Amino acid sequence: MITGVTVKHYLFCPAIVRIEELGFRERVTEAMQEGSEVDKEKVVNFLFPMLKAKEIIKKPIYKYKDLVGSPDFVLKFSYHYSPLDVKNTDRVGMDHKAQVLYYAYLMEKSGLVVKEGMLYYTSGKFIRLPYTDNERRYIERLIVKIREAREGRIKVIQPVRKCVNCGFFQYCRPKRVGKFYEV
Ligand code: SF4
Repeated sequence: MITGVTVKHYLFCPAIVRIEELGFRERVTEAMQEGSEVDKEKVVNFLFPMLKAKEIIKKPIYKYKDLVGSPDFVLKFSYHYSPLDVKNTDRVGMDHKAQVLYYAYLMEKSGLVVKEGMLYYTSGKFIRLPYTDNERRYIERLIVKIREAREGRIKVIQPVRKCVNCGFFQYCRPKRVGKFYEV
């Protein structure tokens, strides 16, 4: 099964997808624990008047074949829907963007009209991501790559600094080659 977290992890490092496929889970650090404690309800109540949505749906689950995803919120507008994820960090990453576009893709596959995805960072940053043919094709290509990574068909090379700070290091056991680790 591919989830929104799988997408986020793949963007961080494709090796993680294989490790998770083998049944290993990330070591949870104190910082991650704190990160999960953001009051998302409060955040969305603050955003609601600004976004002018007709309704907010909390943590819906969307499924399509072996793909599953659950955005923090889905906003219902007059003629379309938008997934909204809340991130308790000030780091705006491609992994977050891909995750929310993946939710948009799943929602579309479930029959909803989706025009954009949204990200809100607790640092105050709010990002709207258009969801068009380009993003749909990007997500479809990403899903193909994730399947390859899951089967261990991708060689991964990462800088040492990234690996030593990675919560999967103990399961991954990459081989050091100069300034890089390989797996
Ligand atoms: S230890 Fe390095 S190669 Fe292994 S999953 Fe983490 S970042 Fe990727």
